[in-house]
Amino acid sequence: MYQFEANCQRCPRLANFLKEVKSEKPDYFAAPVPAFGDQKARLLIVGLAPGMHGANRTGRPFTGDFAGILLYQTLYDFGFSNRAESVSADDGLKLRNCRITNAVKCLPPQNKPTGEEINICNPFLASELQSMSPGSVILALGSIAHNAVLKALGEKLSSYKFAHNAKHKLENELTLLDSYHCSRYNTQTKRLTEAMFRKVFQSAQRLLEK
Ligand code: URA
Repeated sequence: MYQFEANCQRCPRLANFLKEVKSEKPDYFAAPVPAFGDQKARLLIVGLAPGMHGANRTGRPFTGDFAGILLYQTLYDFGFSNRAESVSADDGLKLRNCRITNAVKCLPPQNKPTGEEINICNPFLASELQSMSPGSVILALGSIAHNAVLKALGEKLSSYKFAHNAKHKLENELTLLDSYHCSRYNTQTKRLTEAMFRKVFQSAQRLLEK
């Protein structure tokens, strides 16, 4: 388990890619993207990895690209955010009782981290999960995030199958809640609709009220 490192170089492919991106786009954040939100949150949302023109540009998860539109609007509707849109790291948006992170902190080429990169980054997620109090909810966006959370908590992957809106009670009084990822592809193909995403947040809210 290790704390977030702003200059992590553990994955050579990702570190080189970020260097290239930074030289082509000097105004981009182009570095490992830290978790964002309330340190004491009881809801932790786990995405996949920064998107090129979103988190990798702005330095805040799900900020500045399509994937964040539905996420931040829904967070606002459910009272977890003071703003419905997240546009930049200095836009004044504050999360309440919610924190957002990614399974992989660095931008991967073609949005696809390798299995090895997901594993190398996993101890960072483990340290973020360690601070979650009993009764907290971890919302995994997509199956890669779902598996990364289980691995970080030392749970057996085969005991918890990913399914949209599935709730998995974990040993340490945490609940893992699953959703299809709110990517452009999933929302445009209607694999994930607004109504489906709201149902997941209703589940999260109910679990947090317990
Ligand atoms: N942006 C992120 O920060 N994470 C994702 O999973 C997708 C876009």
